[in-house]
Amino acid sequence: MKIAVVGTGYVGLVSGTCFAEWGHEVICVDKNAEKIAGLLKGRLPIYEPDLDEMVARNQAAGRLAFTCDLAAAVANAQVVFIAVGTPSRPGQGDADLSFVYMAAREMAPFLAEGAVVAVKSTVPVSTGDAVEKIIAHARPYGSFSVASNPEFLREGAAIGDFLKPDRVVVGVEDGRARAVMAALYQEALGETPLVFTDRRTSELIKYAANAFLATKITFINELADLCEKVDCNVGELALGIGLDRRIGTSFLNAGPGYGGSCFPKDTLALLRTAQDYGVVLRIVEETIVANEARKRKMALKVIEAVGGDVEGLTIAVLGLTFKPDTDDMREAPSVPLIETLQRYGAVVRAYDPVGLQNAARLLEDVTLLDDPYECARNSDAVVVLTEWDSIRRIDLGRLRRLVRTPVLVDLRNALEPGAASAAGFHVSVVGQRSEHAEWANPTTDEPDFEKTASGLPRMVRGK
Ligand code: NAD
Repeated sequence: MKIAVVGTGYVGLVSGTCFAEWGHEVICVDKNAEKIAGLLKGRLPIYEPDLDEMVARNQAAGRLAFTCDLAAAVANAQVVFIAVGTPSRPGQGDADLSFVYMAAREMAPFLAEGAVVAVKSTVPVSTGDAVEKIIAHARPYGSFSVASNPEFLREGAAIGDFLKPDRVVVGVEDGRARAVMAALYQEALGETPLVFTDRRTSELIKYAANAFLATKITFINELADLCEKVDCNVGELALGIGLDRRIGTSFLNAGPGYGGSCFPKDTLALLRTAQDYGVVLRIVEETIVANEARKRKMALKVIEAVGGDVEGLTIAVLGLTFKPDTDDMREAPSVPLIETLQRYGAVVRAYDPVGLQNAARLLEDVTLLDDPYECARNSDAVVVLTEWDSIRRIDLGRLRRLVRTPVLVDLRNALEPGAASAAGFHVSVVGQRSEHAEWANPTTDEPDFEKTASGLPRMVRGK
């Protein structure tokens, strides 16, 4: 099948490459000329394990091409995927659909007869209807279909998720689109469920899935707080509940709150849709507020670990990206955590194996280093924020010899607490009573967040 993918970011590049891997003829389009020029020279715009090798292989086989020329790319395509960004509109919370609508407007005059335009971007209910109107306006006598095909891949495990998904969801409004999308996926996926729905339900499925997972993370984070107070172990608790198949073990790792390019913006957009239709989604609302509060609360945990005052102290942060195996810094908990520590007077040094370039655009006055030991040198506390393998495997003895004060705050429970203690660190973890709890002087237990009249959370800055 001939496929065009519009938007060559985390989703578009992975999807296009995987479709090519399945034997389809794929052309990926992007407005960003620098990105396309890099890809043509074999330089990937994102970090995703094993993607470079797969891109190169499919390029060499002539199944995968890159271009800025949208008209040429869509002219012969039987399926055109829209995989452009749908970021949160600042201060509003709803999804900014301007990139989706612009892509639809720009491709409309050049689409092949009978083409299926499949929206892979995460978009609110009824966006497919709007895309259909935009295209119909430009080609009133042309035949085409608009389908919804939300993407569920996770950064860091994107290739595996795409090639072997739990399910594929496709929303269609006509038989031709259904037949084309079935032909595209069925042969490659074998027994994997292909869930066909109407277009609107498919659009909502993506938001419902992300809101549910965000809620699961927030649930275990709140129980982690209780574990710390009542001297229980949240890791054991998560296993104890997660092995119940009705619950499941994934997304039950207590930590500094969810971040990334999807959960924060998608929960907000879902809430905004519900508000527009006069529906109360109280659980989603509380999840958003609790998660925002948690990021700041984690900074207070670090401050407690050093004795209640971080003014003038040097804090070494290990890991900046929102999770390991990606260079994505969008909504990473490291940013609000570092900013809060800085507001309280800390000097921050930070290490990340691949995220430094993106981090440099978001962080100010932070010394960024590509070596974890150099980062920890002469620090007053080491904070583990992303569970990269290089951090999990860190030599704790060497780390101990480099720091000024042996305080370790592990916000991902990534290190073996016994080993860190044995190396001479005072260790704070998430969801277990910490050595510091007795002598620390908590600044405040209550995070400074409030709900605005619109129901969206707003941070009330303390200092
Ligand atoms: P991204 O920002 O990495 O990539 C989007 C790309 O689209 C950019 O390269 C941009 O230059 C390009 N673009 C924008 N307008 C264009 C146009 N008119 N023509 C051509 N190219 C254009 O975004 P992403 O992370 O890949 O996310 C894309 C969508 O997929 C979003 O809706 C997101 O919510 C959803 N999604 C993302 C993930 C993820 O893990 N990143 C997972 C599932 C779904």
